[in-house]
Amino acid sequence: MWGPFRFTSSAVCSHCGSIRYTVERQFPFTTVPYWRSRSIESTPLSDSVGGLLTSRDHTWQFAHGGGNGVRCALGEGRSLLQCTDSALLIGFLEATKQHSGADAARHYLNLALDPTHSEAFMLWLAVSGFQPDTHRDPAAYAAWFQAAVPQAPEFGNFPLLPADQHESSTAG
Ligand SMILES: [Zn+2]
Repeated sequence: MWGPFRFTSSAVCSHCGSIRYTVERQFPFTTVPYWRSRSIESTPLSDSVGGLLTSRDHTWQFAHGGGNGVRCALGEGRSLLQCTDSALLIGFLEATKQHSGADAARHYLNLALDPTHSEAFMLWLAVSGFQPDTHRDPAAYAAWFQAAVPQAPEFGNFPLLPADQHESSTAG
């Protein structure tokens, strides 16, 4: 059973979007743990970006915690939680990999999972009109790209690949 000195927290990996859950039993009136249990769970985002990762190392950003007299502790990683199950982001990264290459997709993944850029980047993506289904089509993606990307130069601008160099070809 759960006592009053239980502290639970979550952290998001800024490389791959996995979530780590931690449960600690802490000595009363301290933050000193005497017992700790951790589990790392994949997310829709981390499942979809495995091919983009250059390292399997995790870098944890504390997102959220509570217990042991702390009602709600928030960390920089909290803005990353919304990314981990965002169909918009996942679709965008897949389309970007297809049309602009893996380096471009990796760049955007890092932006989305960077606590200092994540909220602005996700807001831009949401208002850019990107639609995962529509923009799998190369012509539709190119039209979206030419309208949306120059409006946010701070997020980078990768050239579109020529059609015959698309990462995933229908001929495969
Ligand atoms: Zn990771």
